[in-house]
Amino acid sequence: MGFESFLGNMKAVEAARAMAASGRVPGALLFTGPDGVGKKTLALMLAKALNCERRGAEGDFCGECPRCRKADEMLAATREDLARRREAKDPQRRVEGLVYFDLQLIEPLTRFILTEQIRELRRVAYSRAFEFPRRVFVIDDAQTIHWQAIDLLLKVLEEPPDTTTLILVCPNAFELRPTIRSRCRRIHFQPVQDSLIDELLAGEGKVPKSQRALAVRMAAGSVAKAKAFDSTEFERRRAPWLDFLEAVSGPRGSAHAPDWKALFDATKALSEDRDTFEETLRTGYSLLRDLVEVLEAGSDAAVMNVDVRPRLKVWAGKLGLRGLELLKDGLDQARRLQIRNVNQQLGLDTVAIELLTPPAALDGSQ
Ligand SMILES: [Zn+2]
Repeated sequence: MGFESFLGNMKAVEAARAMAASGRVPGALLFTGPDGVGKKTLALMLAKALNCERRGAEGDFCGECPRCRKADEMLAATREDLARRREAKDPQRRVEGLVYFDLQLIEPLTRFILTEQIRELRRVAYSRAFEFPRRVFVIDDAQTIHWQAIDLLLKVLEEPPDTTTLILVCPNAFELRPTIRSRCRRIHFQPVQDSLIDELLAGEGKVPKSQRALAVRMAAGSVAKAKAFDSTEFERRRAPWLDFLEAVSGPRGSAHAPDWKALFDATKALSEDRDTFEETLRTGYSLLRDLVEVLEAGSDAAVMNVDVRPRLKVWAGKLGLRGLELLKDGLDQARRLQIRNVNQQLGLDTVAIELLTPPAALDGSQ
């Protein structure tokens, strides 16, 4: 047990280990880096390591001593409490009776981390911890702290309490005020290497072997995304895009009439499910990005949809730059229509018709 179960970001892990081993930890830390790489996980591990009764010489926590178990209990109770508060309809009840544990996770209750949450933090930060030698407050999505609460937090950072460590977690340090970030020691996280994510997926065995390379590319360095990848769902969402590309790139330059039915079936399937249309669009953009890559780099080494490489080459060749530009316009338009809640199929049908119209007909020279 200990930090070795953490995947990737060795530098960040080493920094956390060193702090736990020496027991010298700053009053405020800031963990930054892309989503899904384990910033919050490492923050919670550090909190445990700082309090473990059987901490190893390398700073590792044991996971079994009374304090490690207590930390797990506090965390479970905190998560339950957060879920219950988020569901509360009455804004007053949402922040009523806040009580912070020695290990406390602070997350947005609405779109924001509310003033009352930071006020409670400030109230207890200077007192001795109840059960642990060191109290640790992990503030996840610190960029969502309500502007009215920023000054309260700043006051704590200006006079760091010696019994409490604050760990702010946030994707991008520049989303925080300079006065906040300059008072924290920053640890930056990188996307996790593909090889590590591949190993993780192989170990879990949930993604079929044939889809693993695809899952790794789609995760783009995020462990959370890799774990959540559902190959069946992904294929279901992508299939109409593949039909669409086949239909728009198939007949160009040939004497055959376009397969309009296949085309409109595909655009219909793409726009059918409004609730997931954003995800559908993302899939479309990932294919567009791949087609541009294949056409411009002349190589398919960096494509995301690795399992359809040969088809991407054919489509990119047939659509050409003009076709890909039209496709991009179509996707952008579909996205705009979606924001305005208009039927997205219109956008995709328009682009299909343009793609299938020979350039000469557009000149008006006939
Ligand atoms: Zn322990």
